[in-house]
Amino acid sequence: MDSVIARGPSREKTPMAAQLAELLEAVRLAVAEAEPDNYSAKPKTPEAQARILKAVQDSTSAALPMLDVTFEDPVMARGLVKYLNRIKNLKKLVVRLGGAKTWDDLMAVFHDEETRSKSTYRKLWEYIQDAVGVVSHAEETQTGAFDLDGWRVILMESERGAWDRSLIEKARAAIERVDRILERGGFGSVVGGRIFAYPWQFLQGSTYARYRTDRDIVQIAVDAPNDQKALISLTHELGHRFYFRQMSSMARKAWRGFFEQETGSPGVTIDSIIRTWEAWYAAQGTAASTKDGGTEAYFDVKYGRTSAYFERYLKQHDPDMLMWLQAVMNALKIEEPVDETTGALKRNVKPGLDQLIERKSEARVFMHPVTSYSTSSAEELFAETFAHYLVLGPQRIPEPVRVAFRDATARWLRVASATPQTAAGRVAARYLAAGS
Ligand SMILES: [Zn+2]
Repeated sequence: MDSVIARGPSREKTPMAAQLAELLEAVRLAVAEAEPDNYSAKPKTPEAQARILKAVQDSTSAALPMLDVTFEDPVMARGLVKYLNRIKNLKKLVVRLGGAKTWDDLMAVFHDEETRSKSTYRKLWEYIQDAVGVVSHAEETQTGAFDLDGWRVILMESERGAWDRSLIEKARAAIERVDRILERGGFGSVVGGRIFAYPWQFLQGSTYARYRTDRDIVQIAVDAPNDQKALISLTHELGHRFYFRQMSSMARKAWRGFFEQETGSPGVTIDSIIRTWEAWYAAQGTAASTKDGGTEAYFDVKYGRTSAYFERYLKQHDPDMLMWLQAVMNALKIEEPVDETTGALKRNVKPGLDQLIERKSEARVFMHPVTSYSTSSAEELFAETFAHYLVLGPQRIPEPVRVAFRDATARWLRVASATPQTAAGRVAARYLAAGS
């Protein structure tokens, strides 16, 4: 049984978030030009200083009225207090920047506001993201809902996009598909509850789905460009739901034990990554020096020791090594911050390959990754295993993880045919016995 509730009569909205984003973008651009740490910054002529100062003053005074945001709905206002504080911080910074009467005043503001870890420009940029996010969120409204397989599917929209018949069909199909997969696997008990659905490609960034443990709410972006990835992502989130709501605390403890036990130093793998990376990098130098080396090789030489470029190569030629590389880089928290304006590595930052060589012996990584993300924690390993096992099949899961997963979920999981226990399985079973 399901029905789509008709939309309310008044759906008129001020596209406030879009306006705000536009005004703040002008502020950001003006401030970026003034930024003293700007990588490409050159000493500025008095004329250039006067022009930039005026752009900062004009753009900030245009944006300020929009930053006096209030919400009429008291429930909304309460929920947004934390975010409204961020808008207040943004407002303070914008007032200070716009209040500078001379170039030296403006430079003083940059100096006062910067912290050890963040330039003033970076701070402004983050506040702007927050503010636009808050306002878009405040403008989201529920336009309808339907019931499906025990789910209450609440249709949300904002000026980012609206529902139409085909998107509602898409939402229905996506949910039915995941329900079938869960029921077939024996996890039908996870089906049912509240889903907030959005008629967009992504919730944010490249996120298709999300699960809020505190409120037991699933959120999905329905217009996902890749159905398979969206299905895996939604199943992953429901894996979290299963883990936190239906597995016993003993079973979770056993799973965390398995994750810890199987975490170690993948020294041989890292050495092989480094060898491959160095060889690839050296080969780019040869390619670029030949006549037909082309611009791509030129950039690979220039930036080839930073991970983004090597990852692009691995994505095509060695997805397994790519998974390991990302897992190791995450484990070591290797960062390669780039200058916002030039896109080149910031001064004093070593490229990823050199950081990796220096710190390889510190790396501790879960040794049987399902995906690079699965190595980030026991919870993510569980959710990734849950999703890949159910959507792509058990053969896609490294054996020790497969065995541990079957043990942890033995009460629920339907396995097509019994597989003989292996040595690895017996090892894992020791840790997970409590869960079965
Ligand atoms: Zn997750």
